[in-house]
Amino acid sequence: MEVIRATCAGACYGVERALKMVRQAIADEQQSDVTSRPVYTLGPLIHNPQVVAELERAGVQAVASIEEIEHGILVIRSHGVPPALIEQAREKGLTVIDATCPHVSKVQQAAHELHAQGYTVLIVGEEGHPEVEGIFAYAGADAFAVRDADELPKVLPSEKIGVVVQTTKSQNALATVVEELQRRGLEPLVKNTICQSTRKRQKAAEELARGVDAVVVIGGKISSNTTRLFEICKSFCPRTYHIESPAELNPLWFEGAKRIGVTAGASTPEEQITAVIEALEALE
Ligand code: SF4
Repeated sequence: MEVIRATCAGACYGVERALKMVRQAIADEQQSDVTSRPVYTLGPLIHNPQVVAELERAGVQAVASIEEIEHGILVIRSHGVPPALIEQAREKGLTVIDATCPHVSKVQQAAHELHAQGYTVLIVGEEGHPEVEGIFAYAGADAFAVRDADELPKVLPSEKIGVVVQTTKSQNALATVVEELQRRGLEPLVKNTICQSTRKRQKAAEELARGVDAVVVIGGKISSNTTRLFEICKSFCPRTYHIESPAELNPLWFEGAKRIGVTAGASTPEEQITAVIEALEALE
């Protein structure tokens, strides 16, 4: 049995940057002459339970809202947040470390510019996802979000539509939404804000899935970019499995398989990928 890793897989620039910033904040506080302050994140720093547990052991607490924090340091995740929330945290006296991924900041900026130019902003993304909620705050009151073309309302709020995309959406989802808008006679102004890391991982996942008998996708079950990789691989290779750790591997999945592909979401650290590859190789 041959285990083949996708040419591009695992932790992306924005996730590594956020992890580095939070680890630096912990180290700075530990070295501080004054009493060290607690470090918080709004929600888990990344959608990877193993990494979040490791950060918890190092003293980083994930909270659901800033009301839960009395004092200390608040790290903003790579997904970004509405600007009002950062202001609120600062007014409360918290030290804010903004780890919003620069690519997400670009989407927020694009939404802001489209709105300022009089466009109704359509976000191709998952409503309720923290990144999308952050983008909404820049996109004007009439902005709306759809996951795909099927979710487009029959009657659109405006004929002047500007499109931005959640960084982790697939090219295909964007293309079908734009095609449907054009089919309805509109000429949307499209800002393709899918991040390169996402594109490269998706392309590599497709190439991988086309040439293997089974695929293992590693990453948090609530990670949208990992779920997208799973969907892409599954569409080319029905024997595709999404796991968070090697303990979930089931040898029956790979019966008769000669080539097993491995890919991983943008919030999956290298150690987790290596552990899965080693476990797969041990199945032989
Ligand atoms: S997937 Fe792209 S946008 Fe999201 S954190 Fe990583 S680099 Fe940033």
